[in-house]
Amino acid sequence: MTDHSDHSHLSDTELRVRSLESLLVDKGMVDPAALDALIQTYEEKVGPQNGARVVARAWSDPKYKVWLLRDATAAIADMGYTGRQGEHMYVVENTPGTHNLVVCTLCSCYPWPVLGLPPTWYKSAPYRSRAVMDPRGVLAEFGTEVGEDVAIRVWDSTAELRYLVLPQQPDGTEGMGAEELAVLVTRNSMIGVEVVPAPMPEVSK
Ligand code: FE
Repeated sequence: MTDHSDHSHLSDTELRVRSLESLLVDKGMVDPAALDALIQTYEEKVGPQNGARVVARAWSDPKYKVWLLRDATAAIADMGYTGRQGEHMYVVENTPGTHNLVVCTLCSCYPWPVLGLPPTWYKSAPYRSRAVMDPRGVLAEFGTEVGEDVAIRVWDSTAELRYLVLPQQPDGTEGMGAEELAVLVTRNSMIGVEVVPAPMPEVSK
C-alpha cells in the first residue's frame, strides 16, 4: 500500500497537521512524547467536566459559592484546576433577574482549565459580533428563551480575564449531592448560551 492510500481517510487539515508535526519532530523542535502528553491532557483531563464540578460545588456549598464569586481564581484552584488561559478567572452568577453570556469579541479567549478548548462556534465571527449586538437572538438560536424582564449581561473575555457563568440550579435538584449535580451541568450553560435543564423524571414501570 502506498503512503497516499494509507492516508486517504484523512482530511486536508489532518494531513497538514501531520506533515507539520513530522517536520517539527525531524528538526528536533518538538518532542513527540511531550506533544502526546499535551494532547492527552486536553482530551482526557481538561474539559467542561472540570467547570461542572466547580458549579456543582457552588450549588451544594453556600460558603464555596461566596468564595467563588469573590475570588474565582483561588476557589477554582482549590479544586485543582489551574494553568494556561485560566490564570485570572471571574465567575458571573445567573439569577432570576440576570442572565450572563460570555464571548470574546476580539478572538477566542476562553477559560481552558475549566472548559477545555473552545467550540468552533465560539470562535466564529458571527457569534463574536452578534453576542454583543443581539444577545437575545443568539440565545434564541440555542433554544434559550430568556424572559423580557430578565436583564442580559454580556462579558467580553480578554487575555487577562476569563469568565465562567454560574448557571441557576434547576428546580427539583435541591437534595442532590455535588457529584450528581455535576453530571447535569453542560458546557454551554457555563458559557451562558443555555440554561441547565431540570433532570428528566424517572419513568416508573
Ligand atoms: Fe480572545
